[in-house]
Amino acid sequence: MSLAARLRPITPSLTLSVSSQAKAMRAAGQPVWDLSAGEPDFDTPEAIKAAAKLALDRGMTKYGPAAGLPELRAALAAKLKQDNGLPYTSDQVMVTNGGKHALFNLMMVLLEAGDEAIIPSPYWVSYPEMVKLVGATPILVPTNVGHDYKITPTQLAAAITPQTKLFVLNSPGNPTGSVYTPDEIQALAAVLAQHPQVWVVSDEIYEKICYDGALHFSIAACPELYDRTLIANGFAKAYSMTGWRVGYLAGPKEVIAAATVVQGHSTSNVCTFAQSGAIAAVTGSQDCVAAMTAAFAERREAIYARVHAIPGLICPKPTGAFYLFPDISALGIDSQTFCAKLLQEEGVALVPGIAFGADTNIRLSYATDRQTIDEACDRLHQFVLRQSRS
Ligand code: GLU
Repeated sequence: MSLAARLRPITPSLTLSVSSQAKAMRAAGQPVWDLSAGEPDFDTPEAIKAAAKLALDRGMTKYGPAAGLPELRAALAAKLKQDNGLPYTSDQVMVTNGGKHALFNLMMVLLEAGDEAIIPSPYWVSYPEMVKLVGATPILVPTNVGHDYKITPTQLAAAITPQTKLFVLNSPGNPTGSVYTPDEIQALAAVLAQHPQVWVVSDEIYEKICYDGALHFSIAACPELYDRTLIANGFAKAYSMTGWRVGYLAGPKEVIAAATVVQGHSTSNVCTFAQSGAIAAVTGSQDCVAAMTAAFAERREAIYARVHAIPGLICPKPTGAFYLFPDISALGIDSQTFCAKLLQEEGVALVPGIAFGADTNIRLSYATDRQTIDEACDRLHQFVLRQSRS
């Protein structure tokens, strides 16, 4: 069989494959302590589910507009104003099949062969693969733990070439949990201001999940970049709606219109009754978001204390998202071997850092219950002690 050449450089999503492997093992009756996917364990809040059920009962089972239900687009524009202080009209916002699809849409409309996209590394697994899928070239810029895994303005300036078309910014970040301060964002914006050909995508899917006083700040709030920033966001993480597949893209009208054309020929529209649930999520009480974030904050303390106590793992304490990203290089094992052995010997599922461009790290998601976290950490501790002895 000959597949299209565009697939050749693409690797499958390791976050999804490790998570499905863990789920399949559990379904087969094997005990698994799953800290792999970034998937909140909470049920979707009742009011959101009720709105979707009501929509179904009212017959909302037909096609909808490709860019999303007008009421949801208006509600998202209002959210961007209220939460982020950003002025968007409804026609600057489109509803997508999850945050991932918002990113894919914008890459389809902005990038082509010969274009470069700058991605700070470690990065979320799908960014480079999406860039390659649309024929462009990912330019990975290594960051380090000493600088909280954040790209510096000097690094950004050095990476920009006449071919640079896109800069990918993810704060709070997956897998590192780093949150850029407003000053750091402004310093990056000052560099980008010198290069008018460069677009910015700001992946803000973890915006609600910050700790220790860290605050999410959107680069679109820098006036010099508002006109060339695309915000990608979604409902999965903040409202525990991973399976609903509702996300959104906000930015200049022309880009949103072009992305709507792509969506019109690829997915038609996001499931209409799922959009009704999303309307309830964004317009209803935000207490559910606060409650889930408070639970993540407690779990973060617990998991950090336990992982920090494991000799040989170097683990900064992140201020955002729900991941720890410890360095395992002292153990002399690559991340895939480490995670495969850990799953086999202890039944603990983690994502190898290689998925995120860092083969010296492992990613633990703490979007799960305390019991799972505690048991997984005990087992991880024993496993690491065995590696250090062998
Ligand atoms: N974004 C989540 C993660 O990194 C979910 C899986 C995925 O979409 O990659 O685990």
